Parts: sequence; C-alpha cells; structure tokens
Amino acid sequence: MRFHQVAALVFGIASIAAAQTTAPWSYQGKTGPLDWGKLDPAYKACSQGHEQSPIDIRGAHLNKALQPIEFHYISGPVKLENTGNTVRVYVDPGSYIVYDGVRYDLQQFHFHHPSEEAVKGKLTDMVVHMVHKSADGRMAVIAVRFTMDRGDANAAMAALWPHLPTRTGETEKVEDMINPGGFLPADRGYWTYTGSLTAPPCTEGVRWFVFEDVLSVSRSQLRAFTAIFPMNSRPLQDAHGRRIEANE
Ligand SMILES: [Zn+2]
Repeated sequence: MRFHQVAALVFGIASIAAAQTTAPWSYQGKTGPLDWGKLDPAYKACSQGHEQSPIDIRGAHLNKALQPIEFHYISGPVKLENTGNTVRVYVDPGSYIVYDGVRYDLQQFHFHHPSEEAVKGKLTDMVVHMVHKSADGRMAVIAVRFTMDRGDANAAMAALWPHLPTRTGETEKVEDMINPGGFLPADRGYWTYTGSLTAPPCTEGVRWFVFEDVLSVSRSQLRAFTAIFPMNSRPLQDAHGRRIEANE
C-alpha cells in the first residue's frame, strides 16, 4: 500500500470516528441553528437551555465592584484549523487570564461574521471569541467586536490572514510569533453575563465578557474571511431575564 492510500484509509477511519461522536451541523438549511437541538442528543441544550448565547446586550447594570480581567498572554507559534464552521486558532499553553482569583487558560480563539453578540440590537461586521478554561473546567469567553466603518486593517489579523486554511479540515502552522493580545482593545471595559457556547453542544455555565470597545477590520480582511465563511453566526437567543453587568 502506498503512503497516500494509507493516509486515505487513516483519514477515512478518523472521519467515521468523528461522525460517530457528534452530528454535523451548520449555519444554514437542515442542519442550521433552529435544528441543532434535534441533530444529536448531546446538543439538547441548544434548544432546551435557558442560558444560551449569544444575546442582545442591553439594560446592563453598572457594578463597580466587578474586577478587571488580568491578561497574561504570551507570544508563540499557532496552528490554524478550518473546522468547516470557522477558523480556529490554537495557541501553545502559557497564555491565561485571571478573573476573581481564578486562572483561566486560553485554549483557542476563532472568528464569526457577522458578530454574534448584538449591542442594543446592533451587530458588527465580525467578532473574535477567546475561549478559556480553568483547571476545574469552568469556561470564560471574551468577545471582541470589529467594524470596517473606520477602514483600518487589524495588525494581529494581518499576521494570521495569509495562512487562513480555505478547505474544511485543513490546518496550517504559523511559526511567526503571534500574540493573542493583538486582538484586545486598549480599553478593557466589558459587559458580563452567564451564557453558553454559541455552537453545538451549546454547553451552559460559560462566563461571557463582551468588550465595549470595537476594533477596526479592513474591507479586504473581512472579504478574505467571508470568501471562506459567508455567514457563521448563531442568531440571538432569548435572555430569559438574565442580568447583564458592566464594569465601567
Ligand atoms: Zn464563537
């Protein structure tokens, strides 16, 4: 057997194994967001949960007792993966945040177009979600929104975009030093609430931080992403009276 045949066989087995663990899902049509809950018993929270994300951020309560998020992000090589629903950027261990005395390690970050979270009903062109997990399994996600209204390119995105994997399942290693902090605004004012992962299995108990400041993305940067993912955002979910707090 030639190498490519072995590779095809191994890849085939891996695909079957993946298909057995979770059902495929998408952002449109029969496997779209309205049906995620029916696709797999593991996705039940998507349709039955009452603390789902994203939500429309409005009516936030100012709480000056909220702690600032401490960032300890470091530069390093990254690996990009086209999951079929977004581009996920995996970082080496070592980047983390501290919030309320708990350390949450940065696991990966990824992008959505348009932004999933709305503020007073308004979406922006794009959002990055920085996904963190604590040692005891608690999740914290930071959302930073982007707009192309100002036209300027984002420098951190400029370093990654030449490496965007265009086909599902494709990965690419970037050996340049990438600092995830390049996706953070200088002003760290945030809204926070309790929600879920915005994609199956829609797991709840996620602490969300949505930064108030909006960064700039250029038209060509946005186009490079939408050429691969024309639309990869979950619609807004019912807040069910959840309390949203602002730290400033
Ligand atoms: Zn996301």
